[in-house]
Amino acid sequence: QEGRNRFCFFSHDLESSLMERHHLETRLRKALINDELFVHYQPKIDLQTNIIIGAEALVRLANDEGELISPAEFIPLAEESGLIIMLGKQVLNKACAEAKRWLEMGHTIPISVNVAAAQFADPDLAGMIKKALLDHNLPAHLLELEITETALMIDAADMQNKLSELISLGIKIAIDDFGTGYSSLAYLKKFNVDVMKIDMSFVKDMLNNKHDYEIVKTIISLGKSMGLVLIAEGVETKEQSHALVELGCFMGQGYLFSRPLNSTDFEAFISQSSKC
Ligand code: C2E
Ligand code: CA
Ligand code: CA
Ligand code: CA
Repeated sequence: QEGRNRFCFFSHDLESSLMERHHLETRLRKALINDELFVHYQPKIDLQTNIIIGAEALVRLANDEGELISPAEFIPLAEESGLIIMLGKQVLNKACAEAKRWLEMGHTIPISVNVAAAQFADPDLAGMIKKALLDHNLPAHLLELEITETALMIDAADMQNKLSELISLGIKIAIDDFGTGYSSLAYLKKFNVDVMKIDMSFVKDMLNNKHDYEIVKTIISLGKSMGLVLIAEGVETKEQSHALVELGCFMGQGYLFSRPLNSTDFEAFISQSSKC
């Protein structure tokens, strides 16, 4: 159609992947409108006492058959389509409501919510967060935002102002997946973050790969020297937990302690944990 010597390739693979993408976007849009997204909570643990010290909110979406779709699939799509703004707001509100509920049950458990890079394009991000805290009457110090290193670096100059605005609300900021992005140490110093989350890819092999062990060790000593709270992700074995404590990282999160749990199961987990 475009004339002689012009070719346009359109494979059936491409067609089906475009259709899948379209289907997923439709599913996500519908879930956002009908309030069908839900949130699971993964405990964060004090590695020396095994006591729960926090929780991370992780969004969940089911397909038409009721099976869960991985956030790794729909979060990037939500970012590209702009739906992440609405998704982020819904997750934040559900998480704040839940943390308030725990508080009323007598459990002071800080809640962490993931914030995607694309959400920083929203000029009202801080306003939206402030409103969520007010609406749910949740003390600001019980809310933490997890921001990936990569997101921090996209527009580092602007990010500094945006982070200051968020910090002035009284909430905490964590760098997520630390060690996987372009960690410019100079910027790390400028960003006024509170918590460093050691990416699970390093924790996974820290006891059978000398390089990964050295990376974990270096991240811990860097974080400590900057006065940051350190937390290791993806802790799956007792051996990893012990090694982390030995290196000076006293908090962790991972399948060794618990998978992300639905609201009911999480409640059972905290009642049990606080009895120890
Ligand atoms: P993340 O923020 O790094 O979250 C940790 C992921 O690791 C979660 O996967 C969690 O279920 C999984 N995990 C926890 N412990 C272990 C472990 O011991 N071993 C292994 N192998 N995995 C473990 P999930 O829930 O599938 O989420 C994947 C990613 O999707 C998250 O990575 C985060 O980047 C994104 N995500 C999830 N929920 C949200 C959300 O509400 N908003 C945004 N913007 N992103 C989200
Ligand atoms: Ca996270
Ligand atoms: Ca992470
Ligand atoms: Ca990750």
